[in-house]
Amino acid sequence: MRIMATCETTSHELAIHGGVPVRDTLLPYGRQSISEESIQTVVGVLRSDWLTTGPKIPEFEQAFAKYVAADYAVSFSSGTAALHGAAFAAGLESGKEAITTPLTFAATANCILYTGATPVFADVSPRTLNLDPGEVAGRISSRTRALIPVDYAGHPAELEAFLELADKHGLIVIEDACHALGAAYKNRRIGSISQMTVFSFHPVKHLTTGEGGMVTTNDAGLAETLRRFRNHGISSDARSRQASGQWFYEMVLLGFNYRLTDIACALGLQQLNNLDGNLSRRRAIAASYKAAFSELPMTLPVVADDAIPAWHLYPVRLQLERLSGTRAQVFAALRAENIGVNVHYIPVHMHPYYRERFSYRPDDFPRAELAYEQLISLPMFHGMTDQDAEDVVRAVHKVLHWFS
Ligand SMILES: *Cc1c(COP(=O)(O)O)cnc(C)c1O
Repeated sequence: MRIMATCETTSHELAIHGGVPVRDTLLPYGRQSISEESIQTVVGVLRSDWLTTGPKIPEFEQAFAKYVAADYAVSFSSGTAALHGAAFAAGLESGKEAITTPLTFAATANCILYTGATPVFADVSPRTLNLDPGEVAGRISSRTRALIPVDYAGHPAELEAFLELADKHGLIVIEDACHALGAAYKNRRIGSISQMTVFSFHPVKHLTTGEGGMVTTNDAGLAETLRRFRNHGISSDARSRQASGQWFYEMVLLGFNYRLTDIACALGLQQLNNLDGNLSRRRAIAASYKAAFSELPMTLPVVADDAIPAWHLYPVRLQLERLSGTRAQVFAALRAENIGVNVHYIPVHMHPYYRERFSYRPDDFPRAELAYEQLISLPMFHGMTDQDAEDVVRAVHKVLHWFS
């Protein structure tokens, strides 16, 4: 194939070898879309009395809770802060453990460490790359307090199995749904299935507030703890004190300032209006990728029968035994074609901090580690045009044919 490639026209020559790139400008793997209407709404908040702790916060929280069909939604200044709040509300503390997946963004495991508790990893299922309930079951101990599955790439985790384990052992399920706003599991929208569900509003996610996050729950007690935790551990907020003309407040637990601003919540409310359209756009792109890539030497994301993914990412696994290049070479070749591929994720236990602190060794979580060597995330965001998606298809075909 390599010899053939040199005989082909120059447009087939890889950009990394001096050929013409598929695109002139870099297509990122994810990015936000902000409407003019959203900008005007945010400007309106800037002219209002409340930049923070104002009326936009409950408005956004209530609209969000309604969207995911949960009783309560508590906003946070980031998805990471929201995870920290959920870990605290679950009762994680020194001497306790929480079990999570290594194939995630470090924040999922870091939130356990913030509370003084110990993260325990369990390997992923090779099909969906989601946390494997069978692996989790073997790691539950008397110290375990919470299970933290991640809806990897926007595909719901096996929630029923985790909820059964939690019920049996008296644990709380904190679902990291930072990838999965708008996804569904067994005909229910993600957000009210686990005891707490955590979302992120970082610009690459489905809905953005710049930085921001949310925890949803059906438990009034957890919602109250989450509200206090994000506000210094104080039992009432500034606006309700002002409304009732009171100066009195009490700090009842050691919280943080993790509040989301009214500016951000106004943007979030606007973004919520566009969410269904964004989701269907992502699903259409996923469908076009699936159709275009079925013959190539790579494993496409698997969708379980009981799941409707939200397609935060489109991670493919290169079948390296069928390719003459490494993942690094394919990655560099796609980047040179101006396709902003990425890798999700370096398994958390392989980061130096975790490796050194917990003495992890290569092969501790072989499925996650194998996936890591094969994974490449293709661009996936709702603002992608048909031309953008076609560019990805052309570039992937061009590069993989060369390496086949
Ligand atoms: C984005 C993300 C987070 C963190 O959210 P931030 O809003 O960036 O703090 C946590 N977990 C996962 C799986 C994420 O993708």
